[in-house]
Amino acid sequence: MAARVGMGYDLHRVAAGRPLVLGGVRVPWDRGLAGHSDADVVLHALCDALLGAAGQPDIGELFPDTDARWSGADSRVFVVEALARVRAAGYAVQNVDVIIHAQQPRLGPHKEQIRTTLGELLAVPRGCVGLKAKTNEGVDAVGRGEAMACWVSVLLDSARPGS
Ligand code: MG
Repeated sequence: MAARVGMGYDLHRVAAGRPLVLGGVRVPWDRGLAGHSDADVVLHALCDALLGAAGQPDIGELFPDTDARWSGADSRVFVVEALARVRAAGYAVQNVDVIIHAQQPRLGPHKEQIRTTLGELLAVPRGCVGLKAKTNEGVDAVGRGEAMACWVSVLLDSARPGS
């Protein structure tokens, strides 16, 4: 067995007049996250976890924010590319574990939809997607509601032939 572990982290500033997209799910809120793409902090951290586990370049190298192609991009396209690279390297995703740090809004009502969406994106059962949503107890920029952050860990294993 050849298992590979990866970790990813990202942070985006909270901004007015922007959508809030977390894990591919549009979360209703009066603010959103600033960024060149749709600023989906969860999918960006997920990409870096996948790419890191597969020994690939990081998301900033593959999809630079200086490239107009990615302006307003749906971050699911980044995950599709990261996953293609994982598969090309001969690996398959076994499970992912995600921690979202957001002081507001309350993410509890959206967690199951985010888990389902991540499972579909990664083609793994929902039971292989862990998701925690935490406030930052009012501490630091995340706690003051100025930013959201996300950590993702992923485990890859050798893909079975034909899978
Ligand atoms: Mg990002």
